[in-house]
Amino acid sequence: MNPFKDARNHVIDQIQSACARVQRDPATVELLAVSKTHPSSAIRDMYELGQRCFGENYLQEALDKIQALKDLNIEWHFIGHVQRNKTKSLAEHFDWVHGVDRLIIAERLSSQRAEHAADLNICLQVNIDHQQTKDGCPPEDVAELVQTISRLPKLKLRGIMVIPAPEHAEAFEAAKTLFDAVKAQHAHPEQWDTLSMGMSADLNAAIAAGSTIVRIGTALFGARNYSQGV
Ligand SMILES: *Cc1c(COP(=O)(O)O)cnc(C)c1O
Repeated sequence: MNPFKDARNHVIDQIQSACARVQRDPATVELLAVSKTHPSSAIRDMYELGQRCFGENYLQEALDKIQALKDLNIEWHFIGHVQRNKTKSLAEHFDWVHGVDRLIIAERLSSQRAEHAADLNICLQVNIDHQQTKDGCPPEDVAELVQTISRLPKLKLRGIMVIPAPEHAEAFEAAKTLFDAVKAQHAHPEQWDTLSMGMSADLNAAIAAGSTIVRIGTALFGARNYSQGV
């Protein structure tokens, strides 16, 4: 018996009911399994259930898992804060990077992505509710960043990623408004297709507002135990 079967089915049910309430097609919402702090064996179990997209926050931990699981056809998403000295490894080993919040990060990812590799999918992380301690660019900077970053080779800028404070569910609506405003001005609007928002505790509100990728850790894998290391 797969230890994650019930949890994954439950999350999929939640996504389907959240979509039904606002008459969205559930196929428009991707489930990203956030596997940080959980061992490779847990990812293998989740993969066996049909899960293909996994999200990691910590580079070294992620690289170890990518190596251990290279026999599987996993789409790897980096969802942590992107430090400048980590871009080369990200460009080499990931399919998606959600936390791009400065031009220099995009420029480095672009120049460090191998010529033969597929374009790296990226999202702009936006500090949508103006939190003081959070990463992400100010909403006012998004339009210009999109213009500049869209010209860089080997990247596909797909949309925005937000992590609102728990009490700021209305920030999902603000993210959707910003997303739509950029799309309306975009030279290739069909490429601007991703709104990465919603975690275990707030996926309903995120889906109601228009999320296209929900990043779910706890509801799939159970509580994280940081003290044991990884
Ligand atoms: C850890 C994390 C998640 C998953 O959070 P849960 O509450 O466990 O679902 C999602 N997004 C980001 C950016 C994270 O760091």
